[in-house]
Amino acid sequence: MTATRARGVRVRGVVQGVGFRPFVFRLARVHALAGWVLNGEDGVEIHLEGPEPALDAFLMDLKAQPPAAARIAEIEARGAEPAGFCDFSIRSSRRDGAPTVRISPDLPVCDACLAELCDPANPRFHYPYINCTECGPRYSVLLSLPYDRRNTTMRDWALDEYCARQYSDAADRRFHAQPVACPACGPGYFLEFADASALKPSTGDAAITDTVNLLRAGKIVAVKGIGGYHLACDADNSVAALALRERKFRKEKPFAVMARDLATARTLVDLSADAEALLLSSPRPIVLAPAKISLPAIAPDCDELGVMLPYAPLHYLLFAAGAPAVLVMTSANRSSEPIAYEDGEARRSAAGIADAFLIGERPIARRLDDSVARAGAFGPVVLRRSRGYAPSAAANIPSSRPILAVGADLKNAITLVVNGQAFVSQHIGDLDEYACLESFRQTIEDLTSMYQVDWEQLIVAHDAHPQYRSSLHARELAGSRHHAVQHHRAHIASVLAERGAWTKRVLGVSFDGTGYGDDGSIWGGEIFSGSVRDGFARIAHLRPAALPGGDAAARYPLQAAAGFLAQIDDLPDLEFPERFAQSLELVRRNFRTFRTTSVGRLFDAAAAILGFTRAMTFEGQAAMWVEHLARGASFERIASRAAPYPFPALDYRPLLHALALDRSRGRDLAECAAAFEMGVARGLFDVCAAHAADTVVLSGGVFQNELLLERLKSLFDGAGIAVWTNRAVPPNDGGISLGQAAIAAFFSCDAFAASEQPHA
Ligand code: ZN
Ligand code: FE
Repeated sequence: MTATRARGVRVRGVVQGVGFRPFVFRLARVHALAGWVLNGEDGVEIHLEGPEPALDAFLMDLKAQPPAAARIAEIEARGAEPAGFCDFSIRSSRRDGAPTVRISPDLPVCDACLAELCDPANPRFHYPYINCTECGPRYSVLLSLPYDRRNTTMRDWALDEYCARQYSDAADRRFHAQPVACPACGPGYFLEFADASALKPSTGDAAITDTVNLLRAGKIVAVKGIGGYHLACDADNSVAALALRERKFRKEKPFAVMARDLATARTLVDLSADAEALLLSSPRPIVLAPAKISLPAIAPDCDELGVMLPYAPLHYLLFAAGAPAVLVMTSANRSSEPIAYEDGEARRSAAGIADAFLIGERPIARRLDDSVARAGAFGPVVLRRSRGYAPSAAANIPSSRPILAVGADLKNAITLVVNGQAFVSQHIGDLDEYACLESFRQTIEDLTSMYQVDWEQLIVAHDAHPQYRSSLHARELAGSRHHAVQHHRAHIASVLAERGAWTKRVLGVSFDGTGYGDDGSIWGGEIFSGSVRDGFARIAHLRPAALPGGDAAARYPLQAAAGFLAQIDDLPDLEFPERFAQSLELVRRNFRTFRTTSVGRLFDAAAAILGFTRAMTFEGQAAMWVEHLARGASFERIASRAAPYPFPALDYRPLLHALALDRSRGRDLAECAAAFEMGVARGLFDVCAAHAADTVVLSGGVFQNELLLERLKSLFDGAGIAVWTNRAVPPNDGGISLGQAAIAAFFSCDAFAASEQPHA
């Protein structure tokens, strides 16, 4: 008889809410081992007893074939004392120390559940809340850790016999599936009309059919999803789409669409292999890809279309019932407000917009927008990190103390570092919006309490801007240490943090809209040299320009144009609307005029010279318009006829002078725009090449410009210079908090020598 040995095993990573305990249970049975498994604060804990070879075989299988949605970060096995167990059991969760388990992001409905959803013989036929241990909501229903039903928004629904049997059967796909439910015991969906006199509310299948009929008739329906409400309408019906724009006060910003399936998506956009993989990936993000067709009501002045695939069972039900194959799916709110996620809030904010509301009874624990991603020139990149990604770890930052980094005021997201794991929150939004500021505070509260952060130990990092709401809030927090991190250094550090490259010396290029500089002026065209450990020295920057009119300047390209052109002699005569002359006057009198090195504003100035003289209705619009214009030109033709405009040592004067001159001579607008884009790329490249860099880091909002990235890729590839860009967090301000956390970790003198990571 073989001797009984015992092992204590701890598994860290995304291991809760992904069917891990049932998997361990089944595996223990296969190897005839006794003991127990439970969800600990620190991951999954396992105690095993049995013969040595069986213990080893168990550990091999644990590593080799974990559940599909699990992400194992670490398996730690140690010897233990046998306690004489005679069977294997799943124990209830333990809660003693501070948790460091990773919270699973929300998962799209799986194939097995989809098959049941469409099977008339299945008790969950057409049930929109179907899920199992491999799929369904997670972060969006989680109220506190550990991940157990009593800590989710499903706690008010008691399991009936059918669900309870599956929940407690270790051989079942729904064994300990926390949000499990069926039509008999779980929440349901109902449709109500904005105009109470219109029609009677409907439920179940009737609610789905009624919704489909409304959509086909060109109506707008508010639909409750996983992380919030969408406003849906038929994307092929331009009257409906334009009505949606009008009612939502969203003049020109592109809408995202949901395509019924991959084949339908292929009719809308050109999908590279990377783009297709993104579209099908488990976060099911909105993927920006080159549009094949022109949809002026959906994406005006745009070469790209944002497309996503269904991810909630409800979406599949709508399409199966005959909903239009392409639906506009935009967040339910008015213009700049954040997406509505509570029923009352949705009814209020979509009143006057939606003709009807398809409301699900399961509460949403927190607001989660759809994520946005693109398969870009330098690889796939997340441009808005939210549902499906949050709150997973985006990097490992070697810090023994917890760090809270609060990000910047635009496109806010926060990062919490616990035990070296950097959890990046969902996209929160612009903190000038009251509701966003509220969710900013709530998210800090959420994550720090879930992870039971010790405030005595906490290091708080924030932007160097003294007036940012995020900075002010950071200073109010009770953390023991604060660090102000300069905006553009944080952008560069976000890329290096993703790669764990703490000592690597790089040239960091941050081309951006707005950020508070060391000298108190508005930066945004900065080149740094250094590393995260040793810090970044500013070695070059855009020639400073004037920016008349303060905050409004970011909305009026004409004001930027006045500020930049005021520095240039011998300008040709260009016709501009009145605002230009007024702004020029401000610059001359040096009244309400600020100094800036922002490349974002340089693009605005170029847009104004090219004819974009109205107000912008959303951030980045003018730069997108220039990119769109340039896409209309043939680069081969330009390359053979005219060089890119000169941009020596980031001096914009020759660049804009050439642009203004061509414009006054009536040269083709597309060619002018292309020569401008090529000039910016060339100027950036030349500075980097002059500093003999072997690795260049690009981050900042300007690097969402795909055309610019394409030009840069060919220049840097040609010179054999490596380029690192963001992948897991956005190059815009949504990635700032990760960079702040990385820099703060090194400020605070933790000993890093021992934990240095290999460079990616
Ligand atoms: Zn499933
Ligand atoms: Fe920025």
